[in-house]
Amino acid sequence: MKYPFVCLLAFLIFSCNEKSERVHISKEELKEAGITYPEYTGEEPTKPEETELYKPVPPKVVPGINNLPPSDATVLFDGNNLDNWISSRDSTVAKWHVNADGSMTVNDKTGDIQTKQNFGSVQLHLEWSSPAEIQREGQNRGNSGVFFQNLYEVQVLDNNDNDTYVNGQVGSIYKQHIPLAMASVPSGEWNTYDIIYHAPEFNEEGKKTKSGTFTVLHNGILIQDHVEIKGTTPFIGWPKNEPHGKGPIKLQDHGDNSRVSYRNIWLREL
Ligand code: MG
Repeated sequence: MKYPFVCLLAFLIFSCNEKSERVHISKEELKEAGITYPEYTGEEPTKPEETELYKPVPPKVVPGINNLPPSDATVLFDGNNLDNWISSRDSTVAKWHVNADGSMTVNDKTGDIQTKQNFGSVQLHLEWSSPAEIQREGQNRGNSGVFFQNLYEVQVLDNNDNDTYVNGQVGSIYKQHIPLAMASVPSGEWNTYDIIYHAPEFNEEGKKTKSGTFTVLHNGILIQDHVEIKGTTPFIGWPKNEPHGKGPIKLQDHGDNSRVSYRNIWLREL
């Protein structure tokens, strides 16, 4: 009697070990992990084809060459005019200067300008330069900014040999996130910003259910790595989280004759 019992026990242990080496993940678990294979049976795949997908097929986008936007971009400023922009003060014609070299420059004290169109989550590209001629210091040297949904500022500032509070320096999410690096080119030269912005989400009661995020490349260098937006970015006071929908992209007139210029502004809605 003893021998068959030992055999049965050994068989069960062996079977258990065999089983524990195989990976069994249910379709539901896989779906929760964001993976969907239509032919998945619940067993670990044994052929490469079982983990290959052929749809959805990503749309084709032709990259911009020679500083042109990609084929699916919404162009906000191509150097010709400010037709896509209005004054933030009174929604009249944007009063900034359009220059012969295809750039535009802040017209001091005429106020911020913003896009006519409203946007949510976007990939934004723009180029900016602060004046070559150095004037003033701290926050009053080449200060402007790019606001998303009219509320959240990525700082533009001439920080070359010009220290200021680090959560307000160039590339900061104003008063919220210090940039990972100071990546500016010399004053008067053109910087690039490539910004991935994900808008915050609010429920029907107006409570924020998901924070917005910023990822920022400054001259190709990662300076904000998917940081969480805590709320609005005011000069004075705490971040606020009032519910909102889509909003314009806004460029700041800091009102101190900072004369920051912009060019080649486009975005892709996400
Ligand atoms: Mg600013």
